[in-house]
Amino acid sequence: MPNVHPTEELLNDYAAGSLSEGVSLAIATHIAMCPQCQAHVQQLEAIGGAMVMSAVETPVGDHVLENVLAQMSHLESKPTSQPVLPGDLRNQDIILPNPLRDYLGAKTLRELDYLNWTTLPGYSEYVASDRSDKTKVRLLRVAAGMTLPQHTHEGLELTLILKGSFSDHNGTCGVGDLSVADPATDHAPSVDRTGECICLAVTDAPLRLTGRFGRMLNPFLDL
Ligand SMILES: [Zn+2]
Repeated sequence: MPNVHPTEELLNDYAAGSLSEGVSLAIATHIAMCPQCQAHVQQLEAIGGAMVMSAVETPVGDHVLENVLAQMSHLESKPTSQPVLPGDLRNQDIILPNPLRDYLGAKTLRELDYLNWTTLPGYSEYVASDRSDKTKVRLLRVAAGMTLPQHTHEGLELTLILKGSFSDHNGTCGVGDLSVADPATDHAPSVDRTGECICLAVTDAPLRLTGRFGRMLNPFLDL
């Protein structure tokens, strides 16, 4: 069970369908791995549906809220389907969560090897979204013990761990955890020494590198 979850606001926006494709992909992938968020989003979607029904069936008035609450009381709070977990980390044939599988056209962690990675020492990146798009969807593959350049964000950065673990402003994040960084966050995630880390990283605005080394890299990086 993941320990680090999307904010309430992101889950609300996801249920309302108002997120960009990339951010929505990160939330959907987390939900596929997290029974807690899956149950919560099912409730939000049911409430949204109930409000639409009430608006259609009842003239808008004092009874709308009562109707919604009455319908909510019938909701099941448990997820109806078993979430897909990436499974045993010793097995590289781990099945990827459904939303990611469809987006990448790769079924397992092993199949990610066939993607067109850009590789630097200790760090590989695959850009899954169109580079002209404001929202970037990337896969990162970072070697054990590596620290990513310190950076801030003009928008949101969502990082979902598919394999391994890293530590950042949220503490230690493991498989299924979704770490959200906003413009106020200046952080440098470091991968734990126990093994490489593969994660999905979605940014809805360019990163700005802030550390001494990062500032030197800034003009060269197309993040
Ligand atoms: Zn969750």
